[in-house]
Amino acid sequence: MKAAVFRWQNQMATVEVPKPSAGPGEVVLKVHNCGICGSDLHAVQFALGMEPNTVMGHEFCGEIHEIGPGVSGFKVGERVTSLPYISCGHCEFCLRGPGMRCAEIRGLGLGQLPGAYAEFVLCGAGSLLKLPDKVSSREGALVEPLSVGLHAVNRAGLKPGAACIVMGAGPIGLATLLWCKAKGVQTVVVSELVEGRIALAKQLGATAVVNPNKESPAGKVRELAGREPDVVFECVGVKSTLDAAIGMVVPEGRVVVLGVCMEPDTITPLMCILKEVVIDFVLGYNRREFEETIAALATGRINAKPMITDVIQVDQVPAMFEVLRKPTTQGKVMVEFSH
Ligand SMILES: [Zn+2]
Ligand SMILES: [Zn+2]
Repeated sequence: MKAAVFRWQNQMATVEVPKPSAGPGEVVLKVHNCGICGSDLHAVQFALGMEPNTVMGHEFCGEIHEIGPGVSGFKVGERVTSLPYISCGHCEFCLRGPGMRCAEIRGLGLGQLPGAYAEFVLCGAGSLLKLPDKVSSREGALVEPLSVGLHAVNRAGLKPGAACIVMGAGPIGLATLLWCKAKGVQTVVVSELVEGRIALAKQLGATAVVNPNKESPAGKVRELAGREPDVVFECVGVKSTLDAAIGMVVPEGRVVVLGVCMEPDTITPLMCILKEVVIDFVLGYNRREFEETIAALATGRINAKPMITDVIQVDQVPAMFEVLRKPTTQGKVMVEFSH
């Protein structure tokens, strides 16, 4: 089967690899869609923990193709998405929800297990979630990044009438924006430099979108809501954005950090102390958040379709990774397999 793999630092390739088969407790999916994630770009840029020829891709959905021994409750042909890992299923973390904390976790698509930039992918049956007919396969592959936004918004503890800033309108910033709106946040100001992404944030319901080089996002919140931002979501992840977030948030407010800065960064502790700011780093999601996202897509509580700006084939993945080093108009880029 065809798959897009990590070759070496800054180099992807599309190659032929063996098709997986399902062992006990496992299921093989025929992949419908797999989204390109910022973590994938980071992992390739920094050659993080991946052997050459690692099949990448961890935001995906597909149909059940082969069911391994001991798996019940699924039929061949059913559409599902999957948490992008296989965990033990019986430890405290797996039972409580955050399976990501399982000591035996093996992740898909970032070096441990093969991912879904491939025609077929091997999954653990315990990580699967069924997709209702109303959720398209393209949307099914958005469940993972949308759940990242939901997890952050859940952690923020926003009250009705709150005002917040989302820094960055890449896919994770947009997912955070969608959930802020769905959860009743009145004023959501998005700060973004790239023109194409400014348009996208407006389309997805931002109260206002400002270019922080030209206008102050916190000033915009004051103008629109008559208050300081209660929460700032940092979804950029480059040097200095965390300090900027701390500078903008209201005293006793909260900064929620989703952006993954890959190098040491400085903050101003005095400013944190004077404000008694809470800085909250978040990672991933739990199974319940996947379920809430699927339900929200099915009922139309969130409409994430405009996030998808590009649909490509697996052969085009290496070239798209080059393009995404400097994004211009791209929101979520979706790899699509014929199905
Ligand atoms: Zn991702
Ligand atoms: Zn476990």
